[in-house]
Amino acid sequence: MNPFDLGGRVAVVTGGNGGIGLGMARGLARAGAAIAIAARDAGKSKAAVRQLSEGGTRCRSYPLQVSSKSACAQMLERVIGDFGRCDILINNAGMNIRKRPEDISEDEWRQVLDVNLGGALFCAQAAYPHMKAAGGGKILNIGSMYSLFGAPYVAAYAASKGGLLQLTRSLACAWAADNIQVNAILPGWIDTDLTRRAREQIDGLHDLVLSRTPAGRWGEPDDLAGAAVFFSSSASDFVTGAALAVDGGYSARG
Ligand code: NDP
Repeated sequence: MNPFDLGGRVAVVTGGNGGIGLGMARGLARAGAAIAIAARDAGKSKAAVRQLSEGGTRCRSYPLQVSSKSACAQMLERVIGDFGRCDILINNAGMNIRKRPEDISEDEWRQVLDVNLGGALFCAQAAYPHMKAAGGGKILNIGSMYSLFGAPYVAAYAASKGGLLQLTRSLACAWAADNIQVNAILPGWIDTDLTRRAREQIDGLHDLVLSRTPAGRWGEPDDLAGAAVFFSSSASDFVTGAALAVDGGYSARG
C-alpha cells in the first residue's frame, strides 16, 4: 500500500482558490483526494474548481467567511451533504494588515485574529465530530515564519500565526485519542497575491528574501504540495502536534 495515497479521501481546503491553498489542493488531488474549496471570491473559486476538475478530480467550491463560526459550521455540513465525509481539513485561509503596533485599530486586530486564528478553530470544531465518527482524520494548519519570528509591522499577523502553532499543539493533544492528527506547515516566502502586495509595500523585499533564503529563491505554491500530502495521508499517522518549515532554509539561517 502506498502510504501517500489519498484515494477515497475528501479534503476541505480553506482559501483553496489561489496561492498556497490551490498549490496544496493540486497536490492532494494528484494523490487521489476529492477537494472542497472554501473561500470568499466566487470567481477565483470557480476558476480553481475548473482547473482541478480538468485533471479528473471531484471538486466543488463553497462560499465561506472563515471568521464566522456559524459560516464554518454551515460550510462543513454542506461538504458532508455533498461528499458524505471530511477526512482532511487544511486551515489555510489567511490575511495580513501591515501596520506598526501603535497604529493597529481594534477592528484591524480583531479581523486578523478572527480570520487567521479563529477561523482555524471554528473549522476544526466543525470537522471534529465527523472525523471522530469516521475513526480518524487529518487537520493541517498553515502557519508562517511569523509563527517563530517577529517584525515591526506584523504584530497582529505574528500573534495570530504564533497562536496557530499553539492551537495546533493543543488540538493535537486533545484529539490524538480520536486518531485525529493535527499538524502545521510554516511556509517561508512564497510567491502569491499576499506577498505580491507586500513587495509593492516594502522596498527591497524581493531581494532581501533572495539573500536571506539559503535556497536562493522565492517558493512557489506547488512547493507546499508534498508536505501537505504527507500530513494528509497515512504516512503521518504517528505525527501529531508537529510544525514543518517549508522555507528553503529561511528559519535555519542564523
Ligand atoms: P493569498 O492571498 O493568495 O490566499 C489567501 C487565501 O485565503 C485566499 O484564497 C482567500 O480567498 C482566503 N481568505 C482570506 N480571507 C478569508 C476569509 N475571511 N474567509 C475565507 N477565506 C479567506 O495568500 P497565500 O496563498 O500566500 O496565503 C495562504 C496562507 O499561507 C495564509 O494563511 C498565509 O498567512 C500563509 N502564508 C503565506 C506565506 C507566503 O509567503 N505567501 C508565508 C507564510 C504563510 P478569497 O480571496 O476568496 O477570500
